Amino acid sequence: MDLNFSAEDIAFRGEVRTFIRDHYPVELHGKIDEGEELSKEDFLKWHRVLAKKGWIAPAWPVEYGGTGWTAVQRYIWSEEAARADAIRLMPFGLSMVGPVIYTFGTSAQKERFLPGILSGDVWWCQGYSEPGAGSDLANLRTKAERFTGDDGKEYYRVNGQKTWTTMAQHADWGFFLVRTDPASKPQEGISFLLIDMKTPGITVRPIITLGGEHEVNEVWLEDVIVPVENRIYEENKGWTCAKFLLAHERTGIAGVAASKRGVERIKDVARAEQDGGQPLIANPFFKRKISELEVDLAALEFTELRTLAGESSGKGPGPESSLLKIKGTEIQQRLTELALEAAGHYGAPYFRSFGEGDNATAVGPDHSRRVAPTYFNMRKTSIYGGSNEIQRNIIAKMVLGL
Ligand SMILES: Cc1cc2nc3c(=O)[nH]c(=O)nc-3n(C[C@H](O)[C@H](O)[C@H](O)COP(=O)(O)OP(=O)(O)OC[C@H]3O[C@@H](n4cnc5c(N)ncnc54)[C@H](O)[C@@H]3O)c2cc1C
Repeated sequence: MDLNFSAEDIAFRGEVRTFIRDHYPVELHGKIDEGEELSKEDFLKWHRVLAKKGWIAPAWPVEYGGTGWTAVQRYIWSEEAARADAIRLMPFGLSMVGPVIYTFGTSAQKERFLPGILSGDVWWCQGYSEPGAGSDLANLRTKAERFTGDDGKEYYRVNGQKTWTTMAQHADWGFFLVRTDPASKPQEGISFLLIDMKTPGITVRPIITLGGEHEVNEVWLEDVIVPVENRIYEENKGWTCAKFLLAHERTGIAGVAASKRGVERIKDVARAEQDGGQPLIANPFFKRKISELEVDLAALEFTELRTLAGESSGKGPGPESSLLKIKGTEIQQRLTELALEAAGHYGAPYFRSFGEGDNATAVGPDHSRRVAPTYFNMRKTSIYGGSNEIQRNIIAKMVLGL
């Protein structure tokens, strides 16, 4: 792996930086600076700009709409987007179900579903987890019974409950793991179904998180009729798609570029905040915590670069994605702890109320506005995408051979 940037890479960085500067929607900057929650339309604004430019899916093969960038260029892209504080795109279509569809789907499925993911017109959610099937995902019970309709076509009738379904309240479609053969071994009787979220029988109920946000939901499926043509890959072989998707999901969670930007931001705050008559950045305890974080982040960055280099030479993300997930999310959580520490007392008033209409005016500096809700929200990162304990088990088995 060559770690030096070539002249072409440096020119590419310039091109990317200029593009983001000229095309990133200005109204989004305002929203992020003022700590507002982003709406679906906000996410779509940036998505559409990138889709128009052809830069929406750098990791996809060119034939399906990818950019054809090298691993280094993709890395530069993520660095520049984070540097500009650009919002992170929703991963469910682009990083999760998209790669499953172009890898395992039929030509008809690719033609039908990939364009909507690229354009942003179709929003996806992930229906994997159930009460009783989180870490032990293969224990899932949502069942899909196959039958022939009056029109002579083949359908599934789906019944069950999913939980923690992120953004299901906004999703047009969902990708669901369902049990199609209750008699076989847990991993062998599962299929991967694409379901239109407007299908009768689907109910989405909010779960409000510790930070007061509506991000996750329960999704109930009662006699939901799904055409068999919406199944990706073979019946009862959905576990293959499920595992493939999870490796992509975990690699994406690492968020190295965003964490690097987060460290810079905390340093700025620590320069501005006073502690015992001197800037907080001069406090040796605080300085040590930042330095330790930077060292861990640098190590993670090289691991990510190695994974990216492997991917561009045709290796899909494998068990090393678990390592990226663990270290990446631990660093993200430590960042929010340091931000809270830097904000001190000012972090407290901004804990979002659980009720409607929290119209309190800001107290303290702008940087302290969202530190508490963000701190609470980021506790999720060591749980979702498969908890970090489970990732350690995967590394023990698949990487260390224990
Ligand atoms: C904010 C958020 C968003 C999410 N979004 C989605 C989504 O969009 N779609 C979706 O399908 N799911 C989603 N999830 C679900 C997530 O994938 C699960 O929460 C996760 O897999 C853990 O499952 P669980 O919550 O059932 O915990 P459990 O499996 O009950 O685990 C409880 C605890 O026991 C530990 N544990 C369990 N088994 C073992 C073991 N064998 N060895 C060691 N420790 C173990 C776990 O690490 C954890 O600490 C989301 C979760 C959160 C918090």
